[in-house]
Amino acid sequence: MMGRHYAAVIILLIIVLFGIYPAGKNTGREEALLQERFSAAELEFINANGIAYKDLEPYLKYHKFDIYKYFQYEEVRFKHGYTHLESLNHVHNPDYYRFYHQPREALFPDTPLMLVNKCHYLDKDYVPGDLVNVRDYDIDYIVREGEEICLRKAALDAYVEMYEAARADGIELMIFSGYRSYEKQSVLHYQVYNQDDSISARPGFSEHQTGYALDISRPGDGLTMLFAQSPSFAWLSANCHKYGFILRFPAGKEHITGYTFEPWHFRYVGDYAETIHAGGLTLEEYIFSNLEI
Ligand SMILES: [Zn+2]
Repeated sequence: MMGRHYAAVIILLIIVLFGIYPAGKNTGREEALLQERFSAAELEFINANGIAYKDLEPYLKYHKFDIYKYFQYEEVRFKHGYTHLESLNHVHNPDYYRFYHQPREALFPDTPLMLVNKCHYLDKDYVPGDLVNVRDYDIDYIVREGEEICLRKAALDAYVEMYEAARADGIELMIFSGYRSYEKQSVLHYQVYNQDDSISARPGFSEHQTGYALDISRPGDGLTMLFAQSPSFAWLSANCHKYGFILRFPAGKEHITGYTFEPWHFRYVGDYAETIHAGGLTLEEYIFSNLEI
C-alpha cells in the first residue's frame, strides 16, 4: 500500500513539474492557474472551445472578466483595435458613449476621476461633502446677487495655486461658476435653456454638481467664444494640467463628451491631469482605456 502511495505522489509530481497534464495545449502550470480561477463548468467551456491559456492571460487580472464573453471580447478587440481592457469595457458598457440612452450612476464617485456626463448621472440629493466658498480665498470671481460660488476643497486649493501662478505671469483669471445643485441645473435646463441638450445638461447630468468643475473666463469675455482668443485661455491650455485641471470639452471631441467646445469649462482631476493632457485625451477616454468599468 505504502509503495503505491509513493508512486502516485511521484507521478503527480512529474505531471506538475513537466507540464504533461492531459488537457489540450496548456502546460501543467497553466492548467493549475486556470483551475484556481475558474469553476468546473467554466473549465469545460475553455477546453471545449480549445482556448489557450496564453490568450486568456491578459484578461485574467480584470475582476469583471467573464469567460463566457471571451469570444465577444476578442471580436471587438480585433474589430476596433482595442486593448484587452478596452474590449472588456466595451462589451460590458455598450452605452458608454451613447448620450442619454441607458444612463448609469456616476463612476468613481467622490474621487477626482468622478465621471458625470450625458451617460452618467448623480441623484438629486447628491451634494459634495467638502464644499468651500470662493469668498474665503484671495482670488477673483464674479458672483450674482443672492448666489454663492463653491467648489470641493481639493479643487479650490489647486485653483488658488494656479491663479497665483497665472497672476505672476500677468494673466487674468476669474471664476464665473462652480458647484451647481440639482435644483439649480433643473431651472437652467428647463427654464433658461428650454431643454436644449446641446447647450445645457439635464439635471443630474451636469458635471457642475460634482463640485470638481468650474467655469473660468475674463470679465470682458464672459462665457463666450471670445475667451478662446484670450491670453488667459492660451495660458490655461499650456499650464492647467500642472495644477490638476483639464479643459473638459475640447474642440474635436464632441462625439465623446457630448458638448461642443467650451473654452471656459475646466475640471479638476488631480494627479491624472498630466497623463490626460499628455495623451490629448478626454476624461471619458482616459477612464475607458485605463480603468475597469
Ligand atoms: Zn461649465
